[in-house]
Amino acid sequence: SQVYNFSSGPAMLPAEVLKQAQQELVDWQGLGTSVMEISHRGKEFIGVAEEAEQDFRDLLQIPSNYKVLFCHGGGRGQFAGVPLNLLGDKTSADYVDGGYWAASAVKEAKKYCTPNVIDAKVTVDGLRAIKPMREWQLSDNAAYLHYCPNETIDGIAIEETPDFGDAIVAADFSSTILSRPLDVSRYGVIYAGAQKNIGPAGLTLVVVREDLLGKAHNACPSILDYTVLNDNDSMFNTPPTFAWYLAGLVFKWLKKQGGVAAIDQINQQKADLLYGVIDKSDFYRNDVSPANRSRMNVPFQLADSALDKVFLEESFAAGLHALKGHRVVGGMRASIYNAMPLAGVQALTDFMVDFERRHG
Ligand code: PLP
Repeated sequence: SQVYNFSSGPAMLPAEVLKQAQQELVDWQGLGTSVMEISHRGKEFIGVAEEAEQDFRDLLQIPSNYKVLFCHGGGRGQFAGVPLNLLGDKTSADYVDGGYWAASAVKEAKKYCTPNVIDAKVTVDGLRAIKPMREWQLSDNAAYLHYCPNETIDGIAIEETPDFGDAIVAADFSSTILSRPLDVSRYGVIYAGAQKNIGPAGLTLVVVREDLLGKAHNACPSILDYTVLNDNDSMFNTPPTFAWYLAGLVFKWLKKQGGVAAIDQINQQKADLLYGVIDKSDFYRNDVSPANRSRMNVPFQLADSALDKVFLEESFAAGLHALKGHRVVGGMRASIYNAMPLAGVQALTDFMVDFERRHG
């Protein structure tokens, strides 16, 4: 029977993509071998790589003065990659703290510079929220501004588009990339681990404005150096070829759905449905201010936490997997990335309503 995986990552991939990958697994394009066994330097894989990049560019309408890098190292790799590439001769950068991952980026950045931490966490009407961008106090000597538009654990989103003049904005889009339209031109660097909206873990996408290349610190490992990666078409070391190929299939799938604008609407419907059920009852609770609610990661609590265990057991038995909240937050969390169909959220909300009827 149908299983829906609400994991925050590695997350569900579109069923069609998995089916195609399965069919092609041992005999890719009639070569009698798997795509993961062919050389990344051969024309066959270079075709895969270039097509994936082009599709990704099309989906996000990435301007031509931006480079796209397919890297290793995940989001945490970029917590080091960003300062090592962008600091230049400066010793400080602005870091907006809006939650767990933004704070983790600060911790890593401290190895390379003195972050000016802008605490954006506020409480509005008793709910967790983020200060609007116009209230972020940038410093004069910062090399760049870093923030995280979607906090995967806290379930907090910052959907405003940055408008900070000449300041270079670097953003961790790991858990929200491709979920909604994005004005790439407002950013210096956008990065995202693939394992939520793009494909399997092991691949990291970096989008960098080309005038920011060439500034990496001497001690920057070559595999994190945007210039080295760009000069080598993201093949300075062996790239995660199978993940790159799968990401390419996901990009094609997303184009078939109508692209980012179309998935944006579906993501809104999914979020409205789930938050709607939570808000309608006293049995469930989400404590994030509506303006900052994440459409990708929806944490919620049961009024009676003694029921958490039975909720998780029964939901799992109903094919609704990985709903346990992050250990830092507790309760439940439903991650509803692009690959989660509306039917999956419908199945979850039907279960929640029925669970409340039986246990409320
Ligand atoms: N940034 C965000 C927003 C995340 O959600 C995560 C992981 O879930 C990370 C960074 C860390 O990513 P990785 O595990 O790929 O290093």
